[in-house]
Amino acid sequence: MSASSYIGRFAPSPTGPLHFGSLVTALASYLDSRQHHGQWLVRIEDIDGTRCQPEHASHILQTLASYGLESDLPPVFQSDRLNLYQQQLERLHELDQLYPCNCTRAQLQTQAGLHPTRCDSHTRLPHSWRLACPANTFHLHDAIQGNLYLSLAEPANDPVLKRKDGYFSYQLAVVVDDHLQGVTHIVRGADLIDTTAQQLHLYQLLGWQAPTMTHLPLIMGSDGRKLSKQNHAKPIPMADLRVLRKALAYLKINVDEAAHSAKGILDAAIPQWSPQRLAPDKIELSPPDLASLVF
Ligand SMILES: [Zn+2]
Repeated sequence: MSASSYIGRFAPSPTGPLHFGSLVTALASYLDSRQHHGQWLVRIEDIDGTRCQPEHASHILQTLASYGLESDLPPVFQSDRLNLYQQQLERLHELDQLYPCNCTRAQLQTQAGLHPTRCDSHTRLPHSWRLACPANTFHLHDAIQGNLYLSLAEPANDPVLKRKDGYFSYQLAVVVDDHLQGVTHIVRGADLIDTTAQQLHLYQLLGWQAPTMTHLPLIMGSDGRKLSKQNHAKPIPMADLRVLRKALAYLKINVDEAAHSAKGILDAAIPQWSPQRLAPDKIELSPPDLASLVF
């Protein structure tokens, strides 16, 4: 692959303002793109209209820009791309890979919330569309996690691709978008490893080449809790160079004090980025940092 064909991306969901963990993920994908002389794109994953807010999307974009992280092309919004997801859903339907389902959450509770097989609940409308998943295993080599062998059907759980209420799932949208945007490299959090086998299966069914994937260790406190919106991660301030240096330090990058702007710090960080320096399992925040980063 020539260096210039690299396209990376950061794809936040606007369910809240940007927190420190998201900044670290954005930085890692940005630095990986720039080190490969590639493009870096930002995509707003606002597909779940019940949880996403437009004001969070604009705040996230402004915060990223204040740290020198600007998309090389205008950011795309998943909410503008529903016809693209519908087209691919119809292709999968023509390929006989989908089945209708009307199971309720209460019914699935008897199976630990999982939906392992085709069902006969579809006579009622409206219904969701599920993807039938065979017992395949996918191998990928991850620059941080090493060799991953990901089982599609363990636990058996055929995912919903389009919900009963008409919303498309993350699993379908992320694959369609990454392919149509020409994304060649994904750097994202290890919490998404569990979704990867289903995504690789979709790439295979649709006849598309999957991007190279690198999964960052989870950022957590010494209490073992992941830094996340659910665990009360605070929004980060705009353009705080101490926060930027701190985020880079957790990626094992130390930029000397000569750099006095976000852009200068990022430029100095690009040659230092090395995913192999990171431990696969976790980035542990120091107790004072954790205290300052959560409510
Ligand atoms: Zn069902």
